[in-house]
Amino acid sequence: MALVVQKFGGSSLATPERVISAARRAIAQFQAGNQVVVVCSAQGDQTDQLINLAQQIHERPSPRELDMLKAVGEQMSIALMAIAIHKLAHEAISLTGAQAGIRTDSFHGKAKIKRIDTRRLQQELARGQIVIVAGFQGVDSEDNITTIGRGGSDPTAVALAAALGAERCDIFTDVDGVYTADPRIVPEARWIPRMDYDELLELSSLGAKVMQSRAVELAKRFGVALRVRSSFSDSEGTLVTDLSGEMEYVDVRAAALDLNEAKITIRHVPDQPGVAATIFSEIARANVNVDVIVQNVSERGLADVSFTVMKEDRLLALDVARGLAEKLGASGVESDENTAKVSVIGIGMRSHSGVAERMFRALADEQINILMISTSEIKISCVIEAPNGERALRAVHRAFQLDKDNSDRT
Ligand code: ADP
Ligand code: ASP
Ligand code: MG
Repeated sequence: MALVVQKFGGSSLATPERVISAARRAIAQFQAGNQVVVVCSAQGDQTDQLINLAQQIHERPSPRELDMLKAVGEQMSIALMAIAIHKLAHEAISLTGAQAGIRTDSFHGKAKIKRIDTRRLQQELARGQIVIVAGFQGVDSEDNITTIGRGGSDPTAVALAAALGAERCDIFTDVDGVYTADPRIVPEARWIPRMDYDELLELSSLGAKVMQSRAVELAKRFGVALRVRSSFSDSEGTLVTDLSGEMEYVDVRAAALDLNEAKITIRHVPDQPGVAATIFSEIARANVNVDVIVQNVSERGLADVSFTVMKEDRLLALDVARGLAEKLGASGVESDENTAKVSVIGIGMRSHSGVAERMFRALADEQINILMISTSEIKISCVIEAPNGERALRAVHRAFQLDKDNSDRT
């Protein structure tokens, strides 16, 4: 008997009718002879509302208590899903992250799943239950409730699929699959039928929130076949697997816009060996992920060091940067939340040249100034001013002809 994991995102569960329609999908899989594990996110934008509620009381709530609060959203969804399946005359049981054996480290707000003790899950599956698990949450070694980062129900689903040896993991969302760019911003974006893990990994790390990047990383590591598909239609979705053995590559497969980064600059840092190491090891110790880094040419032995972090880490990164500025004798620290990052991605870039040039030209033609640049062998990113973000995404999408059928390009 095969096991299938189905994950439903917030919009797929936003109303009682949608919960019932998701329940029907779970039952259909069960009736097809599979064991079924369903992972639920919080309904609609409830996680945002919960965070907002806490912030009305305290500007920087305790991370532990914030996790306690955020975990509530998923707990509501799993109970409602179980109730819907019961109403449709099938057996189902809901489990919180802790009850499902999901053990994490203790970094509240962005904990990592360490292991899954699958005993309870296996027992319930063996009893013929459809098992419904709360996404996004787990418990640490002292039984504190943790959450695993925004969009965290995706990694919960993939980690469960890996731990239980699932045949596949279906990610149900509000789009027909992965597109060449966010279809809400670029209406001419095209649906991508098949994608390599590495491409989706880059795309999701670069701001395309259709799939959380850690989930793609786990899927790649454990060879979990992913299908990203719509909960509102029966279209086939995007199959994400290892395509690295295939020869047919387009240079650029997709473009992404990230509005969730803030730029921090430490001014007039002494330009000496070891300074960058000191700065970025202290930032890493605060568990803040740094994305793009730029150090300008030094003048009179002093240089400016700029880097970007996720907006939710801005205040923490600023605290660390201010401490560093004092320690290093820098002249000050600035932060800018008004930035965006536009990127193009494709594993074919490994063997094609001229991609960077085309991207810079597309931005120049739109009179969009580039603040920072970062590249890897399969992506190019430019940090720009936020108000230009959507226009930049559309321009880049057009420049690489992503709106055209490119299946015959290599
Ligand atoms: P869920 O609540 O199901 O987890 P999300 O809102 O997290 O859904 O992700 C789905 C959204 O991702 C879509 O509504 C779409 O606007 C956005 N998105 C961004 N980039 C892409 C892309 N390249 N392809 C498809 N959707 C994208
Ligand atoms: N509810 C959580 C969030 O909004 C997790 C998820 O949706 O995947 O980030
Ligand atoms: Mg999501």
